[in-house]
Amino acid sequence: MPDAEIIAIGSELLTPQKIDTNSLYLTDQLNALGVEVVRKTVVGDERERLMDTILGAVARSQIIVLTGGLGPTEDDLTRDAVASALGRSMIFHPEICEWLEARFKSFGRTMVEINRRQAYIIEGAEVMPNDRGTAPGQWIAHDKVILMLLPGPPNELKAMFQKQCLPRLEKLLPPQVLRMRLFRVVGMPESDLDQLIAPVYTRYTNPVTTILAVSGEIHVHLRARCSTADEAEALLDEVCAQIEPLLGDRIYSRNGDSLEKVIGVLLHSRHAFLSVAESATGGLLGGRITAVPASSDHFLGGFLTYSDEMKTKLLGVPADLIEQHTAVSEPVARAMAEGAKQRTGSDYALSVTGYAGPDGENVGLMFIGLASPDGCEVRRVQLPGDRERVRVFSTNIALDFLRRKLLAPDGHK
Ligand code: AMP
Ligand code: MG
Repeated sequence: MPDAEIIAIGSELLTPQKIDTNSLYLTDQLNALGVEVVRKTVVGDERERLMDTILGAVARSQIIVLTGGLGPTEDDLTRDAVASALGRSMIFHPEICEWLEARFKSFGRTMVEINRRQAYIIEGAEVMPNDRGTAPGQWIAHDKVILMLLPGPPNELKAMFQKQCLPRLEKLLPPQVLRMRLFRVVGMPESDLDQLIAPVYTRYTNPVTTILAVSGEIHVHLRARCSTADEAEALLDEVCAQIEPLLGDRIYSRNGDSLEKVIGVLLHSRHAFLSVAESATGGLLGGRITAVPASSDHFLGGFLTYSDEMKTKLLGVPADLIEQHTAVSEPVARAMAEGAKQRTGSDYALSVTGYAGPDGENVGLMFIGLASPDGCEVRRVQLPGDRERVRVFSTNIALDFLRRKLLAPDGHK
């Protein structure tokens, strides 16, 4: 199966204001055909660099998708650079010029001279019509390499890829499919997880396994490339059957769902309601829970009790308890969770209190409480990282605490 590379062209894509989104779309489309994207380059509107990038790509990749730089202005260099890199000439197509003139006319405008540039096609290229804009695309077979020149505006690019590139690629490529699995995991560091499952996945080059740490959790991706979907699924089944038991209930999602979505589904299926009492996370936990649509089906609300007084006033945490143990302590986390549960009438309540830092002692020390129909438990954790990381990790731990409770045999109401 050939590999692909994408070249996104445009100086604006090298500024902080503009991001190359076309390559994400293209990667998704190519993967669905079983083609792996092995390299992406973003290059400015500069002839020498662009030529250099194209020459490199032609030497190493079989499928090259270029986006952008097909406009009519001086800085639109893609046509020229590709023609020069391939040693081909440019040919003026009067019929494209007429089509462009007619298009401008249909908008009540007259075509200006520079738009004629868009009627130049690289020798030997197939023209790919653009029904959303003025820049035609080009499809070039050069030795064993395919080059696609596509317009930059995402709506034009997508329409052209669907209508022009997909049918050509499907004809060209051997039937091959790419199938993926994703395990989302909480409750263990990335290196521990890798140590655990590496003995399995390193024995396989297909599927390819990648492990990604994403805001305090880990995503394990497995991607299989085979000639049929059944083969790919069977291969994934084989590897997953070995990985899953190793990770056990630390896998919280197999379909991409977030932790907050998963606990929402669990609560809803048990007709149970949740409330929260937050100190150090200042609303982050409630924010995550309510980011899930229809969260009112399982979430009653919460208390943002940052000061000691608020913990006492809103949650009924005894002032002398705080004085005796400090606000960051096991008894206070317990009293916060119990207070939230009792004052909202929820079935479950989560509390978070701790030191998010960066100043002071015991930075990263967090107490997370969970009040449930069968009592209250508190976890003490020492989290690494900066303030933001500590706060986000705390919400992961709290949500996972609840998830495990709901899954445990005595977690049912
Ligand atoms: P161009 O075809 O280079 O004239 O690009 C036209 C417009 O398309 C640019 O101003 C961008 O707004 C947009 N564009 C170009 N390349 C990309 C890309 N890779 N991802 C997203 N938008 C893009
Ligand atoms: Mg441009």
